[in-house]
Amino acid sequence: MQKTDVILVGAGPAALFAVFELGLLGLKAYIIDILDRPGGQCTELYPDKPIYDIPAAPVMTGDKLIEQLMVQIKPFAPEFHLCEMATRLDPLETGSWRVETDHGTVIEAPVVVIAGGPGSFQPKKPPITGIDDYKGTSVFYAVRDKEIFRNKHVVIAGGGDSALDWTIELQPLAAQLSLIHHREGFRAVENSVNQMRALVDAGKMNFHIGKIDHLSGAEGKLSSVTVQPKDGELFDITCDALLPFFGLTMKLGPIAEFGLNLHENRIPVDTEKFETNRPGIFAIGDICDYPGKLKLILSGFHEATLMAHAAFHLARPDQKLKFQHTSASSSLQEKLGVK
Ligand code: FAD
Repeated sequence: MQKTDVILVGAGPAALFAVFELGLLGLKAYIIDILDRPGGQCTELYPDKPIYDIPAAPVMTGDKLIEQLMVQIKPFAPEFHLCEMATRLDPLETGSWRVETDHGTVIEAPVVVIAGGPGSFQPKKPPITGIDDYKGTSVFYAVRDKEIFRNKHVVIAGGGDSALDWTIELQPLAAQLSLIHHREGFRAVENSVNQMRALVDAGKMNFHIGKIDHLSGAEGKLSSVTVQPKDGELFDITCDALLPFFGLTMKLGPIAEFGLNLHENRIPVDTEKFETNRPGIFAIGDICDYPGKLKLILSGFHEATLMAHAAFHLARPDQKLKFQHTSASSSLQEKLGVK
């Protein structure tokens, strides 16, 4: 069990800026996100798209915005729990809260901030009979530790960036790697597709155009996948690990079970503190709901700032909060490591 000042559920832009504002007030944050990297919608849905309405940044891509936020919060060294879904939120007798993840992580804090956007990104499952029997043992929708694929017969299915990135990343480790995609063309960046094709030409991996027809194995362990090629007869590929990358959907997920009031899948908050109906639980960014709410990145930044000031009083009840400007306060500049 770990303890911190503030637990953030979600690692989108609102949560990242919250780390900065909390850090200025001397509060330590832990961040949980089901994705394997921070950035929420910006990195997952539009990394290369230019954004034009970030104050004082006339144009900036989704990826660049997150990269800059990560630089900005570096002095506060937040603890990231990526590839983990926050599944439970329970009150403690002390007035604090306990958050648990599907990975077995348990964190306690006086303040929890829900910054979950439209909900958790969850992998789209391919319609293959019995695939759930192998989930977590032979079928993986994300890579937490690539070492588990060393010397294994790996099959990757899909034609987007994740499928191609992991093909290139895992090929040197795997005993054998096969990529299966239903057509010749890919949705991934050209450079990755070219790298994959070069590996195929060099005889280092296989690429098949077709669909997975069925799986074979026992007791959660896959032994082979059977492929229906675009042209021709079914064939088998020896397989210890199957990684289907068919994109992500967004679902509110476990947040719906956190005992918070919901209005059209969003969490009503006040506009002074951005606190929910449960004291000590705040909601910021796209997931919060109040009159006039706009689902914009800059709204999330404002909400994060006011939330942080309210959170301070819960996390440090015996201390006074002194309002300071970063341009003028030497103590804030020390925290930022610029003095
Ligand atoms: P998100 O970015 O949605 O991040 C939420 C994170 O929480 C996700 O990573 C999710 O996986 C995680 N999460 C949820 N539940 C759980 C859980 N239980 N456990 C673990 N993790 C969880 N806004 C602008 O201001 N300007 C623009 O130009 C602009 N362009 C856009 C273009 C597109 C195509 C889209 C889709 C959106 C655009 N937006 C734009 C909106 C902007 O991206 C959102 O307002 C912003 O991302 C919201 O940030 P957030 O931090 O609230 O949530």
